[in-house]
Amino acid sequence: MTTRQTSCSCGRRTLTTQGEPVRVSICHCPACQRRTGSIFGTQARFPSGRVTICGESKVYVRTADSGNQISFHFCPNCGSTMYYQPGDDPNVIAVPVGAFADPEFPPPRVSVYESSRHRRASLPKDIEHVE
Ligand SMILES: [Zn+2]
Ligand SMILES: [Zn+2]
Repeated sequence: MTTRQTSCSCGRRTLTTQGEPVRVSICHCPACQRRTGSIFGTQARFPSGRVTICGESKVYVRTADSGNQISFHFCPNCGSTMYYQPGDDPNVIAVPVGAFADPEFPPPRVSVYESSRHRRASLPKDIEHVE
């Protein structure tokens, strides 16, 4: 089974995943743009039982447009988002793909919140589009 490890920016917090992600997506929503400082967020979902988290994190809870509470866990030293838990499914952990710093990571298959997509953000041709 594939094992992958992430790191925060300062390297004090790591996270290990086992197996392949169940979903890799791009989100163009304004909240993801502000959280990441990039023009979209890319995240990989794993079953929570396949994720091992190392080190303490601070938590920021944001209420999504859907009304779900999303808990963002970030490194208290450098502020990198280590993972987050979508409020609609406690058995899933979403990990920012950038934290793996792995160009060979499986590509995103779903693109959401395209209403706020930067027009210069080009996407893979075979991606599923969700408004
Ligand atoms: Zn850190
Ligand atoms: Zn988003």
